[in-house]
Amino acid sequence: ASGYSLLRDPHHNKGLAFSEKERDAHFLRGLLPPVVVSHNLQVKKMMHNLRQYQVPLQKYMAMMDLQEMNERLFYKLLIDNVEELLPVVYTPTVGEACQKYGSIFRRPQGLFISLKEKGRILEVLKNWPQRKIQVIVVTDGERILGLGDLGCQGMGIPVGKLSLYTALGGIRPSACLPITIDVGTNNENLLNDEFYIGLRQRRATGQEYAEFMQEFMTAVKQNYGEKVLIQFEDFANHNAFDLLSKYGTSHLVFNDDIQGTASVVLAGLISALKLVGGTLAEHSFLFLGAGEAGTGIAELIALEMSKQTGAPIEESRKKIWLVDSKGLIVSSRMESLQHFKKPWAHEHEPVKELVDAVKAIKPTVLIGSSGAGRTFTKEVIEAMTSFNEKPIVLALSNPTSQSECTAEEAYKWSQGRAIFASGSPFGPVDYNGKVYLSGQANNAYIFPGFGLGLIISGAIRVHDDMLLAASEALAAEVTQENFDKGLIYPPFTNIRKISAHIAAKVAAKAYELGLATRLPQPENLIAYAESCMYSPNYRSYR
Ligand code: NAP
Ligand code: MN
Repeated sequence: ASGYSLLRDPHHNKGLAFSEKERDAHFLRGLLPPVVVSHNLQVKKMMHNLRQYQVPLQKYMAMMDLQEMNERLFYKLLIDNVEELLPVVYTPTVGEACQKYGSIFRRPQGLFISLKEKGRILEVLKNWPQRKIQVIVVTDGERILGLGDLGCQGMGIPVGKLSLYTALGGIRPSACLPITIDVGTNNENLLNDEFYIGLRQRRATGQEYAEFMQEFMTAVKQNYGEKVLIQFEDFANHNAFDLLSKYGTSHLVFNDDIQGTASVVLAGLISALKLVGGTLAEHSFLFLGAGEAGTGIAELIALEMSKQTGAPIEESRKKIWLVDSKGLIVSSRMESLQHFKKPWAHEHEPVKELVDAVKAIKPTVLIGSSGAGRTFTKEVIEAMTSFNEKPIVLALSNPTSQSECTAEEAYKWSQGRAIFASGSPFGPVDYNGKVYLSGQANNAYIFPGFGLGLIISGAIRVHDDMLLAASEALAAEVTQENFDKGLIYPPFTNIRKISAHIAAKVAAKAYELGLATRLPQPENLIAYAESCMYSPNYRSYR
């Protein structure tokens, strides 16, 4: 290949880091200015450039440009500056990018599979240049973060998630495939937007939708085999639960919004209990929001509780209450409840408002998973603080504008007593002369390591016990030093090491359950996981 095309190939391009010898051997003389720089200096320069941008979306676009120009530099940048760049390539900035995708869109990333391709999905998959795919992240764009239906513009989400699979979990970039399924959108603004890039029709539903997804799932398995991980991302909850249960027994599927969230939040609770004391079963839980996140978390807490106490899961569920848009979920509402809410309909009189539910249930843990911002009011936090020495408050809704409360509000209204973590990041808070750091219950702690564990063991199915294993592995990474600052999650700086530990525990569980196909089992799973991880270091070309 010519030097000119080498510089335009993101998989091989090194820019100014091409050595003198490489410049000679690959016809690069004259195509680059004379200086030869190190990978580290490229990272330093790029960070310098990024920090010049005041607007997060500009940083995002610069990162996307870099990904298309020099893949290894993109990943090294992301890995070496993970805390700073995670909010750029993922939430909250990715949300804004999706909202404006139509106008910032330059070059397509990932695969777009729309209803126009019905009957030809296998053919479409074959257009993708890579053959060996290990992880697919797929969305239909109906519930992007807490932002709602963004249709085809949801593509930013699978792209972003997969870049984290590589940066944090060490999955090779060429083994990652982002996919957006376009069955239309019900977003009127998009339907009327002349720059909209998706199908201009309302969403297909019911049988038409199910058949299209069936064709997709069949084509994926046919093309990539049984061990490809299919991560469902940001589907609306009515489809998400159905897809997960329908394909959970025939495909390697994982829903990050339901299962990944559950695992990361359970990890936070396991470590919060080290600060507050007591076992899971000695605590009581109230959720605002009974959708994918809320019921997914609730179910995993109940499962872990039952593992610990030996009590039936129905008993454990009684410690957990949920509020949806109609109020507390109680048995008198049973008839009209969606099926995933029914297990949570306990005996209680109806309660409409969250604050009244808090006062009635007196939970030790309050979890926001509603997508509705500003719902943990002063009154709610004060009520939590009135009967808890250290109330545990998790405001999970994304992006930042939808957070149930801010970190500052949580500390201020609880007089500094709350153990607080959130879905979107908040900076340090100064309250009464003390600095409080709050953790971020970011799914990025779990899914990259979880996926790596599935891949290195050759797992063919996901099992809930693997989620518990991942939670325990993450909770074990929180140090005393972290606790002293009020953190219930470890810092992201060591995330690749954390991912390797999670992967090892998940893989071990896959072997234990007989779901692993990579035989024999490696002796040291942590070392094996680390050895499998992609490194962004440049290779030298002869
Ligand atoms: P979802 O499936 O649509 O569920 C939302 C739930 O919240 C529904 O039960 C809904 O009630 C309820 N709700 C909405 N507005 C409400 C209000 N004003 N008062 C009371 N309940 C209300 O959404 P999801 O997937 O669970 O996600 C919810 C939020 O969690 C999103 O903002 C998402 O970004 C966030 N999240 C965070 C993390 C994380 O921090 N790691 C992970 C996943 C999701 P009805 O059922 O009555 O409609
Ligand atoms: Mn999601």
